[in-house]
Amino acid sequence: AKRLNRDTISFFKSDMTRKMMRRLELEGDLRRAIESDELAVHYQPKAEIATGEIYGMEALVRWFHPTRGLVPPDEFIPLAEEIGMIVPIGEWVLRTACRDAVELRRRGMPLHLSVNLSMRQFREVDLVERIASIIKETGLQPAALELELTESILMTEAASAIAALNEIKGLGVSLSIDDFGTGYSSLSYLTKLPIDILKIDRSFIQHCGHDGNSATVVSAIINLAAQLGHIVVAEGVETVAQLAFLRERNCSRIQGYLIGKPVPIETFVAQLERWRKI
Ligand code: C2E
Ligand code: CA
Ligand code: CA
Ligand code: CA
Repeated sequence: AKRLNRDTISFFKSDMTRKMMRRLELEGDLRRAIESDELAVHYQPKAEIATGEIYGMEALVRWFHPTRGLVPPDEFIPLAEEIGMIVPIGEWVLRTACRDAVELRRRGMPLHLSVNLSMRQFREVDLVERIASIIKETGLQPAALELELTESILMTEAASAIAALNEIKGLGVSLSIDDFGTGYSSLSYLTKLPIDILKIDRSFIQHCGHDGNSATVVSAIINLAAQLGHIVVAEGVETVAQLAFLRERNCSRIQGYLIGKPVPIETFVAQLERWRKI
């Protein structure tokens, strides 16, 4: 029994060591990822339910590691946030996405662009100046830009957040709450903050067909958004049944694999015409 124990312990130890080694390695690699040209921005379409039109796209960062291949954002974004690399990465994503959106507009496809903003970026004192200078430098129309925030930003820093959010709004940019419904928020911040859009988290959408509680939550969020004068976007729509459910409840916009997965900008352009016919 003793022997078994020792083996078990050393197994866990080596498993932990492996994880720590991977993390350390990834951390070093991530610090070089921008200069090494390993990051890319992919775009996922957003559609208006009533017209079927693709009105916009969300920018999603991708990391192509030279030996590990594609590292999922759910693995490297939290790491980038921890080590502060999300600040230059987020800025690089914003600049790249604004350039691509301007280029699309030039080619006759004036789409709305949304970009994720991490909590860590939000704490930078010069965030608003940086956003303003990227808008100026790329020539994007501010009204075409939306920044997606998570509820955690609104929760933990509610007092100081209001001023910063108002400043960003002052640039002419719109603001959305991402993954709405998954935070631990009291809903009171919704009445205090200059938010334009609520994005219903994909977990509710994916269960709304077979789980009464999820369906109730989705309906409630749609109604809440309408009452507050916010636009609502359903995330992670994968099936025609989910689309029908959302249409019936007057949800205005959707995003999800049913419309399209995130793809490089060239692929996005090539697929725009096909998407427009949905
Ligand atoms: P998110 O902002 O909630 O983005 C939506 C995620 O859901 C994306 O995953 C997208 O590919 C995925 N998705 C969209 N539609 C569907 C669907 O119908 N079914 C399923 N199963 N998934 C769908 P992705 O690209 O892996 O990104 C994961 C998360 O990483 C993002 O979640 C966001 O929190 C973060 N992230 C990605 N890019 C950036 C970035 O540039 N900056 C920051 N701060 N975070 C980012
Ligand atoms: Ca998002
Ligand atoms: Ca989301
Ligand atoms: Ca998410």
